Parts: sequence; structure tokens; C-alpha cells
Amino acid sequence: MVRMSERVWNFSAGPAALPLTVLGEIRAELPALPGAGVSVFEISHRSRRFEDIIGEAEHNLRELLGIPVGYRVLFAQGGASLQFSMVPMNLLRGAGAPAAYVVTGSWGTRAVAEARKEGEATVAWDGADIGFTSVPDLRGLDGIADGAYLHVTSNETIQGVEFPADFEPQDGPPLVCDASSDLLSRTVQVERYGLLYAGAQKNAGPAGVTLVVIRDDLLERVPDGLPAMLDYRTYARSGSMYNTPPVFAIYVLMLVTRWLRDDIGGLEQMHERNRGKAALLYGALDASDGFYRGHALPEARSLMNVTFRLPTEELETAFVEGARDHGLVELKGHRSVGGIRASIYNAMPLEGVEALRAFMDEFRAAHW
Ligand code: PMP
Repeated sequence: MVRMSERVWNFSAGPAALPLTVLGEIRAELPALPGAGVSVFEISHRSRRFEDIIGEAEHNLRELLGIPVGYRVLFAQGGASLQFSMVPMNLLRGAGAPAAYVVTGSWGTRAVAEARKEGEATVAWDGADIGFTSVPDLRGLDGIADGAYLHVTSNETIQGVEFPADFEPQDGPPLVCDASSDLLSRTVQVERYGLLYAGAQKNAGPAGVTLVVIRDDLLERVPDGLPAMLDYRTYARSGSMYNTPPVFAIYVLMLVTRWLRDDIGGLEQMHERNRGKAALLYGALDASDGFYRGHALPEARSLMNVTFRLPTEELETAFVEGARDHGLVELKGHRSVGGIRASIYNAMPLEGVEALRAFMDEFRAAHW
């Protein structure tokens, strides 16, 4: 039995809350995985049972995201941070044209810094001057047409700014997206991308596996001579099994994608739920008479990470402590933004967000 009485509402930015039903399944199957008779930690990645697991993980992802033929699904390690390097190694080295980066927050800043170790990368739009509070319209960017690729971060986890749905241009250079903190939270038009990548530990599972979805023709651009583990083609040729993949993380990802499909009903339904949850918290900000000040401009508000300040740092500390006493944890904002950050990924139920909303209203009434 999962001891519910000890569980709190976890607003961590990642690794983040997992669906309770998935935790229950892991627990039930842990001593003896059906069909294997041993735990998932103890099976060979070359076993039939694991082939089924990784096969279902890919199948579920293809179904949920509508990944068309002509795209490969790769399971890598090293987090999104390794993708900051692998993307330019594979797609910029020898491309003969610079890559363009749209920088809407801390993670995009890191991505472009890594790309510049590999080749020429220009910043096509930079939100630093406005404190990373907004996102641009990608269709209005200049000077990117002939670039090796255009890199964006669909949701900046630290600042809480997210591109709106349907932000992807239909033409231009291959779109490369760090979707670490919003992949699987809404539908995406995969066919508008050259490459999508995401660490699993927000919406897809535990840390340790990184998803890469890449269009076949980009694999043809990969230069020879890369270390095998840094070459996308190695993963594509070997079914992500050139070396031992993160077996447990892929197993949990498979269960999470099954939950998304069977329990939630797919990404449209998930998006609807996520919109409802975010609206509750942004509603508290907007009704607070300036007590809670949102970091993101309304048009760039993230459905995943809700970031805001209170009138003083003392009140912010009191908020975090008071929330903890109500069973609402991990609400302290990232040090670079300060204030509060409530991460409300897929697995955070409406009930948890309602509890936070009630606490916000109560706290404001007591202190304003
Ligand atoms: N990009 C984004 C948008 C992130 O949120 C994170 C992690 N918080 C990263 C990249 C880095 O991911 P990892 O720790 O998996 O390398």
C-alpha cells in the first residue's frame, strides 16, 4: 500500500511528482516483473522483456505525440545538458552555416554557450534585456533563413515563460527544441520540427533518460568521426542499445506514457487539465491587487512553472514556510529569479493546485 497520509503536494521543478498510480504499479511489480520473475533492476537490456518495455515506450510516445514516419525516437542519457552539446556536434559541425538560438531564459543561455564551443551560433532573439519575461514570434525573426538550425526552449523552467501552443513556423531552417519541461503536456506538431529533446524528469518519468525525436534527413548531416556515444546515428542504428540503456528510467517512462494514454486520454485532455490548473494560480495572481506579481508577461505565462514575487523577501520566506506547514512543498523560486515557483506538471492533480490556491488566498488575506 502506498502510504497516502505521508504524501505531500510536491511542486518541485524536477525531478518532479510522478502519477500515484504509476508509483503504485512500480511498487507492485518491483519484486517480480510480470513475465520476468525478477525485478526490473535485474533484467538484461537484451532480454525479451526489456525489448517489450522499450518497444512499448516508443509506441506510446509515437501515439501520444503523433510522431510521423520519417522520425526516429532515441533514448539517450546525459540529460538535456548533454543535448546542448550533441545538437551542435551533430548538426552544426561541418554545416557551413551558423546556427541561430532564441534565448528566452537560463536554459537557452546555456544551450547557446555550448553550441559556441562547437561552431558559430548567433542569438536571433535575446530576452535577457527584459529579464526573460516574454517570448518572441518566431515568424518575425530576421537573418535565420539559411542557418544550420533554429534552436528554441519551448518552456523555460526557471523563469516560467513558455511559447504558446502552435508557435512553430512551418518553414525556415530545421527547428530544434529543448522541450524538457513541457513535452507531453500538450499536443505538438512534430512534423514542424527537425529535432525535439527532453530530459524525462518533469513530465515523462525519472531522471536518467533523455528523449530525442529526430527527423531522418538530419541524421544524414551528421559528420563522421564523432565519438560513438555522441553520434545520433549510433542510437538510431542500435535501437538505443549500443550500450546499456537506463533500463529502470525507460520502464517508468513506459508506465507514465501508458497512464497518459489510458487514464488521461491523451495530450489534448492533458493540455486541457494543465490549462485549468494554471488558470487557478494565475487567477490568484490577477485577483491579488498586486500582492502577488507574476514574473512572466501574460502572453508568455507557462502552464508548467508558475513564477511570482511577493512584496518583500521576508513575506516570500514566510510563504514558503507556511505552505510547507500545509503540506505544499518545493515552492521556493530559483535563486536567479527569486520569489516563488510552483511547478504543476502533468502528474500534479487539480486537487494539489486547489490546495495551493486556497493557501495563496488565505496568505494574502492575512498579510495585505
Ligand atoms: N532544459 C530545461 C528547459 C530544463 O528545465 C532543464 C532541467 N531543469 C535542463 C535543460 C537541464 O536538464 P538536465 O538536468 O536533464 O541536463
